[in-house]
Amino acid sequence: METSEHFPWRASASVPLQEAVFVFEALAEHLDEHLELTRKDGTIRALTPEGELVLNLRPSTIDVSIRAIDTLTVGRAMELVATHMQEFSQEQLAEISWRGNAVAAKHARCFRMVTVTGVVDLSSNIRRLTFRGEELQPFAQGLHVQLFLPRVSNALLPDPDTVVQGKPIWRDLQEAPFVRTYTIRRLDVAAGTLDIDFVLHHCRSPYTDAPGAGFAAIAEVGMRVGMFGPGGRSLPPARHYVLAGDETALPMIARLLETMPAESRADCIIEIQGMADRQWLPSRADCRIRWLERDETGDDPSDLLLSQVLALNIGPDDPERFILFAAKAEASRQFRQYLRDVLHHSSRRYLCAGFW
Ligand SMILES: Cc1cc2nc3c(=O)[nH]c(=O)nc-3n(C[C@H](O)[C@H](O)[C@H](O)COP(=O)(O)OP(=O)(O)OC[C@H]3O[C@@H](n4cnc5c(N)ncnc54)[C@H](O)[C@@H]3O)c2cc1C
Repeated sequence: METSEHFPWRASASVPLQEAVFVFEALAEHLDEHLELTRKDGTIRALTPEGELVLNLRPSTIDVSIRAIDTLTVGRAMELVATHMQEFSQEQLAEISWRGNAVAAKHARCFRMVTVTGVVDLSSNIRRLTFRGEELQPFAQGLHVQLFLPRVSNALLPDPDTVVQGKPIWRDLQEAPFVRTYTIRRLDVAAGTLDIDFVLHHCRSPYTDAPGAGFAAIAEVGMRVGMFGPGGRSLPPARHYVLAGDETALPMIARLLETMPAESRADCIIEIQGMADRQWLPSRADCRIRWLERDETGDDPSDLLLSQVLALNIGPDDPERFILFAAKAEASRQFRQYLRDVLHHSSRRYLCAGFW
């Protein structure tokens, strides 16, 4: 059981909603795709190694309670709740009035406009873009960012009209950018540069069908995107890590391996389109990497990964081990269910994330 010692930072709010039941159900369904949820009557609870989110349904109100290991994590959860409540409700919500010792957490994240300075193909499926920006220091605290991409391919992304508590706002919906999440593969604060590796899926589709991959496919030096973050953080300390993911998780796995201590052991299983997508993944840890080639099998993305990770016969919960599974949402959901419902692992020792 988590204690206030584990999760000392808090934020809570009561949000009045005309359609409280509908919004509560929509939130429950959405969170279930990404997190481990328990549900009892009108209460849902999501617990991760980093914190806990509790939603309580009352007549015409949803009570939200967040506790986490740091202010950044609380801030991310506050944003997740606020964004999705707005998305799922039919009404215009007033700004949520948060209370608690982590309420300033929202400001821990920031926004920058960054410019493409380099385009390199690591393989025919993965393209690395280098960006330059000002004052990138805050992004060193996390792994991932949200990228704001122009609504029309090749168009220059305009500056946001305003930035409220770190978050950019474009008032003209015709110009409001697409938002997609990516991992910072490399960050050099002194030089003001960072690399992001994009998987070029669907790159023959119209830009608007897959703007993340589409932007990478047409990117040229001088193009600008917005960047908000950071999010995500290193995994909890463990003697043994199992890191499983597809190529969208490859940048995250690479960064985790780079910072892993020499005493740790890491078993990595990475599903890729073809052997040309393999990368050199340096680590001080005792590290084994298995590459799974998708196109030899004709499987759907992440099916092969899921079957091979299940075949590891992971066994009962082990306090010395941490498991990461990051891939297609459905595969991540199935593996989370397996760890939770079949093996009864503690949710403090795994993270199963739907990356797309
Ligand atoms: C924390 C986090 C970190 C991530 N880091 C990276 C990263 O470093 N590099 C990276 O490339 N991606 C990363 N992703 C995944 C990326 O955010 C998604 O793939 C995103 O949806 C891509 O946006 P899009 O506009 O190209 O496609 P979307 O508009 O989201 O989707 C268009 C269609 O393409 C499908 N699709 C989306 N992604 C893929 C895929 N990878 N393979 C096959 N089909 C796909 C969708 O199911 C949909 O049918 C990360 C995701 C998360 C949550």
